[in-house]
Amino acid sequence: MSKRDYYDVLEVSKNASDAEIKKAYRQKALKHHPDKNPNDKEAEEKFKEAAEAYEILSDPNKRNRYDQFGHAGVGGAASGGFGGGMSMEDIFSQFGDIFGGAFSNFSGFGGSRQRSRRVNRGSNLRIKVNLSLEEIAKGVEKKIKVDKYISCSVCNGTGARGGSSYSTCSTCHGTGQVTRVTNTFLGQMQTSSICPHCRGEGQVITSKCPHCTGNGIIRGEEIISINIPAGVEEGMQLSVSGKGNAAARGGISGDLIVVIEEIDHPELIRDGNNLIFDKYISFTDAALGALIEVPTIDGKARIKIIPGTQAGKVLRLKGKGLPSLNSYGNGDILININVWTPKTLTREERITLERLSKSENFIPNPTRSDKSFFHRMKEYFH
Ligand SMILES: [Zn+2]
Ligand SMILES: [Zn+2]
Repeated sequence: MSKRDYYDVLEVSKNASDAEIKKAYRQKALKHHPDKNPNDKEAEEKFKEAAEAYEILSDPNKRNRYDQFGHAGVGGAASGGFGGGMSMEDIFSQFGDIFGGAFSNFSGFGGSRQRSRRVNRGSNLRIKVNLSLEEIAKGVEKKIKVDKYISCSVCNGTGARGGSSYSTCSTCHGTGQVTRVTNTFLGQMQTSSICPHCRGEGQVITSKCPHCTGNGIIRGEEIISINIPAGVEEGMQLSVSGKGNAAARGGISGDLIVVIEEIDHPELIRDGNNLIFDKYISFTDAALGALIEVPTIDGKARIKIIPGTQAGKVLRLKGKGLPSLNSYGNGDILININVWTPKTLTREERITLERLSKSENFIPNPTRSDKSFFHRMKEYFH
C-alpha cells in the first residue's frame, strides 16, 4: 500500500498553519475514532493514517523534511516516524490531549475493550466472632451462618429468565460506555461515561428472572467455615476473599471481614501473649511455704511458694501463655502473688499475733533478694 500524501490525508493545503493542521487532525481523529466505529477496520486504518500525518506535519523539522523529500525524508521507524507500526495505544499516549480529555477512559482495543465494561462487585460483609482464650490459644475453625446476598439459583445469578434472556445494549452497543459531545470554546469535546441504560454492563436483560427480579442475587444465608489461627487478638480483622455479598448479575463477590472479639476468661487476664493471674495467698503460706494451684489454658497447674515469699513477687510459668501469631514461641503465665491480710481476728488470734509482732523476724527488713519490690521501684523510676 503506497502512502498517501499527508496533506491529502488531513485535507489541508501545503501552506496550512499549525492551528489549521491541528484542527484538521482533530476532526479526522474524532470521525474515525474507534469508540465511534467499533470493529471497523477501515476506520481504524484511517485513524492511524491521520495520526501518522499529524505526527509529521505538527513537527516543524519533520514537516520541513517531508516538504523537501516526501515520505523518504521521514519514512520508517529509523527516523522516528510511524513507519506504519504505531499502535493505537501509542497514538493515544502521544496525542491523547488533542481530544481535550475526551475518551479519557479509553482502555484499548479489541479484547482489551471489554475492560471498560463495568463489572459488578458485591459489597464486603463484616461479622464479629467471639473467641475464648482456649480457642485463641489453639486456633479454631468456626462455622458461621452468615446472612447475606447470595447468587440466585433459579437464573444462576444472571438475573435473566432461563439464564439466557440477554441482548446487547442498544444504547452503547455493548461497550458499556456512552460518548457525549459538548461544544466548548476549544471546539467539540467528547467525554465518555457509563451507559445509563445497561449501567455499564454492555448487555441488558430482555426477560427478568422472576425469582430475583433481574438482580441475580437474593437474601439468603450461607454457612462459612473460617480458619482462625492461634494467637489472634481483640480487634484483629481476617479477610475471607469472595465470601461477602454476591454481586448483581454474576459479578465478583465481596469479601467477608471477620472481626475478632475476645471473651473474657474468668481468671486469666491477657497481656499480649502473656496471661496474668492474681493470686492471694495467706500470710502463713507466705511465711511457711506452700503448694498452690493456678489456672492455665489447659487446666490447673501447681506451683511452689517458697517460705518467706513477699507480696508483689511475680512467679512465672514459662511457655504457658499464648502463642504468637507471627513468630514462634509462647508467652508465659505470670502469677502476681498477693498476701492476704486478715480483716477480722478472734481474740485468740489477736493474742498470738501480738506475741509474734514483738519477734525480730516480723519487723520488715527488705533486701535486694526480695527482688520484685526493688525491681519494680527501679523500673518505675528509670
Ligand atoms: Zn434469578
Ligand atoms: Zn449500554
